Amino acid sequence: MPTFQPVRGMRDLIGEEAQAFTCIIRKARETAERYGYREVITPVVEPLELLSAKSGDEIRQRMFIFKDLGERQVALRPEFTASIARLATTAFKNEPKPLRLFSVGTVYRYDEPQRGRYREFWQSNYELMGSAKPEADAEIILLTNHLMASLGLHGYAFKIGHIGVLRGILSQENVDEKTQNAILQRMDKKEYEAALKLVESEKCREMLKGLLEIKGNSWQDTVEQIKDYLADYEKARQAAENLGEVLELVTQSVNLTVTVEPAFARGLEYYTGTIFEVYIPELDIALGGGGRYDRLIEIFGGDSTPAVGCAHGIDRIAIALQMQETSFDAKKGKRVMVVYITEALKPIALKIAEQLRTSGITVEFEVMGRKTSKALEDADRRKVAFAVIVGERELKDGAVVLKDLVSRQQSTVPISELLEKVKG
Ligand code: AMP
Repeated sequence: MPTFQPVRGMRDLIGEEAQAFTCIIRKARETAERYGYREVITPVVEPLELLSAKSGDEIRQRMFIFKDLGERQVALRPEFTASIARLATTAFKNEPKPLRLFSVGTVYRYDEPQRGRYREFWQSNYELMGSAKPEADAEIILLTNHLMASLGLHGYAFKIGHIGVLRGILSQENVDEKTQNAILQRMDKKEYEAALKLVESEKCREMLKGLLEIKGNSWQDTVEQIKDYLADYEKARQAAENLGEVLELVTQSVNLTVTVEPAFARGLEYYTGTIFEVYIPELDIALGGGGRYDRLIEIFGGDSTPAVGCAHGIDRIAIALQMQETSFDAKKGKRVMVVYITEALKPIALKIAEQLRTSGITVEFEVMGRKTSKALEDADRRKVAFAVIVGERELKDGAVVLKDLVSRQQSTVPISELLEKVKG
């Protein structure tokens, strides 16, 4: 028989890794609650048409696409935003704005597998729809910061830009949208020479080159330099102005390390405004990113709805936590093992186990029919905190033996006081 392995680029998460994921997802969900985002659960498989509209070649070429048995062209979702935008035009069509939605789950991209880059990976995703104001952009950045901080990550920095800067220059220089997309895609990969080669006009090329060289001493300085540089490019200048407004709001609310990158681009085609990514110094791949997309919902047949959102890579956050040796609290409650001395006591032992579970205690019941001593050895090995031993003699007085497996002490405890003692 062959031994089966997961599909290339996909992983089993077991033991501590699975625990880390659960913990990150819990924090992501808490962050959603804290900022008023409602959770939605959408299908992993979506119509190909929905997923390929406006996601950009980069992602389109890496989708898992197939025909279902009904000859429908479908794909595994490579991100959440398209599904959420679909909801905005259907189930939430008449919902008052702003609309704040949260999702968490797996997404699929045919990337070249390496550490931090998988073909199946997890994202927590937040979308804020209905506001074109800088405070909406600020909120998405602030909640990303909140999540990173609540996980105990440190030293992380935000890389921020505005897609309107590059698009503003390119549009004014009459570069068509398709070429613009191709240029931005190369810029995203830092293939600047290849990007500049796609620009026909010498003047436009020089403009972009100059933009790439701008570097200020602070984000305020960089934004000012960009604005000065774009004096003749009104749309692009307004984009830089907008970026400054967003950053003003963010940095007045929290202490953040921010670098402004004037020629920053991201792989997804639908962005129209601010874009950002968050990094830790130990890793050169982004832990999360997002941006403003004001036209996507309209493209999907909805009313014109400005929106901004972000996604965090849970697999990469898990790596970051490990690298920074952050011991996030797994909130492990004390575990209890319930064992019984004789077969006849099994039903009452099980009843005691159920009562403890109902009161919120984690209980493992002896299901292997082992001798008490063997069961306790196993409990020790698995670092269970207490053993509840149900025996004939104590039960006659409505009691059981409670053994503390750390201090090795044991005492007879009335069943009515058991919960209190275990919690104690
Ligand atoms: P995006 O949807 O491209 O904006 O990506 C958002 C986040 O998802 C990134 O910042 C990464 O943390 C994570 N991510 C993207 N691609 C992968 C991948 N192939 N494997 C693991 N995480 C990824």
